[in-house]
Amino acid sequence: MTEPLLRVAGVSRAFGGVYAVRDVSLDVAPGELRGVIGPNGAGKSTLFNLIGGQLAAQSGTIAYAGGRVDRLPAHRRARLGIAIVFQGARIFRGMTALENVMVGAHATTRGGFASAVLRLPAHRRAEREIRHQAREALDRVGLADWADRSAEALPLGQQRALQVARALCGRPRLLLLDEPAAGLRAAERDALAQLIEELKAGGLTMIKIEHDVAFVTRLADRVTVLDLGRVIAEGTPAEIRAHPAVIAAYLGS
Ligand code: ADP
Ligand code: MG
Repeated sequence: MTEPLLRVAGVSRAFGGVYAVRDVSLDVAPGELRGVIGPNGAGKSTLFNLIGGQLAAQSGTIAYAGGRVDRLPAHRRARLGIAIVFQGARIFRGMTALENVMVGAHATTRGGFASAVLRLPAHRRAEREIRHQAREALDRVGLADWADRSAEALPLGQQRALQVARALCGRPRLLLLDEPAAGLRAAERDALAQLIEELKAGGLTMIKIEHDVAFVTRLADRVTVLDLGRVIAEGTPAEIRAHPAVIAAYLGS
């Protein structure tokens, strides 16, 4: 078997003595699209925050691209190529689509936002590079024509694509998508599914959280099921749909 791109091993995190994520392990292979499902409060978003470094794990290890990352701050993990589209992420109003993507890119670029705003000569080149990458990311999600238009005028489905573009701007190797299809209409979901398939065809490794079993099992190579902070099942979409514990967790929620 090839070396996993991401290895989460025995990771736990509690809030006020209650485990949100408990002894969770998962390996994600390069190029894989992993689905994560589970009822509300199962610990899905917390798991993403542990992988991205927004939260520190209290035990366990996280290895990415062959090295431990669990002690690194979030911005260092981002620079290594771990990107997250957060649950319910909002666009920046009053900015163009391109500016929305560039704001995200500064977080993963050396020099950062402050030096870009100050326009120090040494950073003008970095600024141009970010602009170039931002246009490239917009192009990848099919929003090239929207670059200079107001982001808030975009329909919701394309606002979601814009969030994906923002995450792609640092050219990540691992993209974490937290309920990207939430609140979208059927046609918008289909467009998003197609975008995700294109990113997968381009070799990007992804983990996608969905509340909706049907949507996640449609795209994923493998699916991990969380309930009450624990992994209760993992397998192919067909195995997961037939899994008694999965049926029980969903009927019980
Ligand atoms: P999911 O994304 O699967 O709906 P979450 O990871 O958001 O679940 O939450 C898992 C559990 O952890 C929930 O009980 C939630 O209330 C709790 N939790 C998450 N984040 C925090 C936090 N920052 N402080 C306290 N409790 C939290
Ligand atoms: Mg969540």
